[in-house]
Formats: sequence, structure tokens, C-alpha cells
Amino acid sequence: MDEKLKIILPNMVEETTEKHKQVSYQKTCKRCGQCCRAASPLLLKTDYSLFISGHLTDTNTYTLRLGEPILNRLEQDVYFMPFEAIKIEDENNACHFYAGSGECLIYEDRPTQCQTYECWNNAPHQESLEEIRLTRQDIFGDIDPIIKVITKHDEVCSYETLIDLIQKLKEGDESSLTQIQQMIDYDIATREFLNENYGISPKGLHLVLGKPLYKKIELFGLQVIENEDGSLQIQIKETGNEDIS
Ligand code: SF4
Ligand code: SF4
Repeated sequence: MDEKLKIILPNMVEETTEKHKQVSYQKTCKRCGQCCRAASPLLLKTDYSLFISGHLTDTNTYTLRLGEPILNRLEQDVYFMPFEAIKIEDENNACHFYAGSGECLIYEDRPTQCQTYECWNNAPHQESLEEIRLTRQDIFGDIDPIIKVITKHDEVCSYETLIDLIQKLKEGDESSLTQIQQMIDYDIATREFLNENYGISPKGLHLVLGKPLYKKIELFGLQVIENEDGSLQIQIKETGNEDIS
């Protein structure tokens, strides 16, 4: 497994605490909640039934798109998604369903990764995550035109293209800024279209389209300015992170 995927797995327990040194010989989960506080699970195809049962919805999950940058707060480093994946919301890294004191609000129906994760077992995973992960195609594949909107949005707002444009911008090609602005505008317009025509809430759009593009660009040393008419304008930050693209 790609080491960089550690950032999106529930087994991303970076800090070796005294508590974990003590539980390293355990054979069962003690429900201490340390893994739930470190990250939310990445959803697998086997978790689709949790959307059917209503445990998972478009407001408590979100999509990480191909090539999307993710900030690892512990390492202060940025990773890029090697494929699309869907996760449970994770405010400040802790899983949305973590209620504190080791309690999971959906314990009996928790996702596959949570059921199979063994913090005491360092054996490598045998299955390829890429093959068994849940995707938006699995969820929206039969819903026309949502899947067409997702496909077009991925094409126009590709992170690969965005990173190329940012690289050109850093090399002095200022026309790239216009193209980045157009990409951000398309992302916003697509969200408004789905909200107005299909009633999908801004939070629900985090699953349909991933998190808004303008919120990600600060990781690339750009910043967003809101104009008086409410439109967003992209500028180069005076002191940006120069090493992440
Ligand atoms: S699997 Fe998670 S909740 Fe269970 S003991 Fe390990 S860190 Fe704690
Ligand atoms: S779903 Fe439950 S068990 Fe899984 S990470 Fe969230 S709180 Fe922990």
C-alpha cells in the first residue's frame, strides 16, 4: 500500500503514546477511540448498504477527488490522492461519529475499515484499496444527469490541470491565473446549478463534487478575495507555501 495513503485511513495513529505501548499485545479492540480521533474511515464498496440504511448520507460523507491535495497537520506536509475516494466527515481529523470516551454513534453499523482495523496488528493489508474503495460511480451511477455533471466537473476542474497551471504561474505565466479563475468559477457555478435544480445542499455537494476548489487553492500559495458583488477572485499569496506543487 502507498505509504501516503496513511493519511486517509483510520489506522493513521501517528503518535505512539504510552497507552498504545501498553495495548500492543492485545487481541481485541478496547474501544479507546484513538483511531477514531486520528482520522475517519475511507469507505469501501461493502459500505454502500450504509447509504441505503440511512446511516451514511450526503451530509456526513465527502469525496476526495483524484489528485486532490490533503494537508497532513501532524507532518505539515501535503499529499495528493492517487485515486478518488469517499470518506466520513472528519472535523479536525476526528470521525463525525466519534462521541468521545471511545464511543461510536454507529458502532453496530460501523464501516468495514472500522470493523477490520486492528491497531495491534502491523501485518500489511493484502487487498488493493483501489479495487475495493467506494466511488461516486457506485452511488450516483444510475442517476442521470448527476453522474454526467460529476464527469464534466472532474474534466474541467481536474486537480492535475490545476497543479500544472499553478506551476506555470510560479514560472511567471500570468495567463494561468485567468485559467485558474475560470476553473474556480466553473466549480462554483456547478454547485449552484445542482443546488437550484436538484436541491442538493452545499454540504451534500461535498459528496457529489468534493470540497469546493477555492478552499483548496490556499494549499498552493494562492488566496481567495471576495468582491463586493459576492464573486470570488484569486490572487497570489504574498507568503505562500512554495514547496508543495
Ligand atoms: S482499534 Fe482503535 S479503538 Fe480499538 S483499541 Fe485500537 S486504537 Fe483503540
Ligand atoms: S465510524 Fe465509529 S468506529 Fe469508525 S472511525 Fe467513526 S467513530 Fe470510529
